[in-house]
Amino acid sequence: MDFSLNAEQQMIQDAVRKFARSEILPYSRDWDHAGKFPRELLTKMGSLGYLGVPIPEEYGGAGLDYISEAIVFEEVGYADSSVRTTLSVQMSLVELTILHWGSEAQKQHYLPKLCSGEWIGCFGLTEPNAGSDAANIATSARREGDEWLLNGQKVWISNGTIADMAIIFAQTQPGSKSKGMVAFLVDANTPGYSARKMTGKLGLKASDTGELFLDNVRVPDSARLGEVGQGFKIAMSALDNGRYGVASGCVGSAQHALDASVAYAKERIAFNRPIAGFQLVQDMLAQMKVNVEAARLLVYQAGWVKNQGQKSTIPVSIAKYYATEIAKQNADMAIQIHGGYGYSDEYVPERLWRDVRVASLYEGTSQIQKLIIGRDLTGISAFE
Ligand SMILES: Cc1cc2nc3c(=O)[nH]c(=O)nc-3n(C[C@H](O)[C@H](O)[C@H](O)COP(=O)(O)OP(=O)(O)OC[C@H]3O[C@@H](n4cnc5c(N)ncnc54)[C@H](O)[C@@H]3O)c2cc1C
Repeated sequence: MDFSLNAEQQMIQDAVRKFARSEILPYSRDWDHAGKFPRELLTKMGSLGYLGVPIPEEYGGAGLDYISEAIVFEEVGYADSSVRTTLSVQMSLVELTILHWGSEAQKQHYLPKLCSGEWIGCFGLTEPNAGSDAANIATSARREGDEWLLNGQKVWISNGTIADMAIIFAQTQPGSKSKGMVAFLVDANTPGYSARKMTGKLGLKASDTGELFLDNVRVPDSARLGEVGQGFKIAMSALDNGRYGVASGCVGSAQHALDASVAYAKERIAFNRPIAGFQLVQDMLAQMKVNVEAARLLVYQAGWVKNQGQKSTIPVSIAKYYATEIAKQNADMAIQIHGGYGYSDEYVPERLWRDVRVASLYEGTSQIQKLIIGRDLTGISAFE
């Protein structure tokens, strides 16, 4: 068993770390305050190859492995979970889904634009009445000759109002749940397609979140992704990639909470000595360190499975569940170690805490990850 990164992975880690700490981290607080997504940053990341890490070079990607992808998410997640969310959706939920399920024409049309950052993509699954129970979506797809008519509404869609295209999941037979689901690639300028910004979020303020409205949106059959009836399978396979990105990003956030806490604990004086010297503070630091190391190993284990081309649902759910939960714990302990200053946006733990809270909700809640793991252990599905 070899735990070291290879030369290529080491190189990407050094490069992305340098980029994220100089081009993202210094601006994160301002972007958070402004609630503004830094669009120009994505173009820059595209030009450096960071938007298409695991996508083959023939489609405009960097052609690297899944551990390299995790490294990019970890480094970007260390700097800013909002930017990491935008990147996760672009690379994991949209590009990899098109790569795995798209026709040659779809891959050639969309992937180079997405990998370069010329276009932004979004992933439209969740609806007002269907989140965890994704098979219960109501957006309808009706076939009319060589075209499809789409009607419905999506909510909580990351990149929703800034996206140039969306993967839209719809139902062909009302009430048929996963059996009738179908997916489409829909360009945002298609008549009848519109988006509205969702505001008032606790964190991730620099990540765009929107509602999508599909009002008699007409798309050709060539916009269909996969076969009719494969929509649910496509959504779940996309989430195997998306959850991996969330888990990797949370390792970065948890590492940042730890680094900030160690530095602060060595500087802050109480009772005439640095608080780092108190056993109860070291207890928190040690717990944070164990959390982040264990989460990173679970992510790398899932990445190894992906690199073998094996089905990764279970290792990904384990990594996603664990990494998102410990990232919340580390952010919370970082606030504790910073004392009153931890409650202020002058210091980083406050933003880490708000931003990471969503990670155990989106792309399948922690409860859903446990039910996936439980189904695998027992052979009994709690979903049916
Ligand atoms: C900031 C943000 C960005 C998002 N981005 C996207 C995106 O890009 N694309 C997209 O499609 N969606 C996106 N989502 C939606 C997200 O994936 C859903 O919010 C999530 O899947 C949970 O669904 P829900 O909100 O409907 O909660 P519900 O499904 O209503 O769940 C509510 C609670 O009930 C629990 N629960 C539900 N079913 C069960 C069960 N069977 N057993 C035990 N407990 C259960 C859940 O764990 C949760 O605690 C985003 C959400 C947020 C907040």
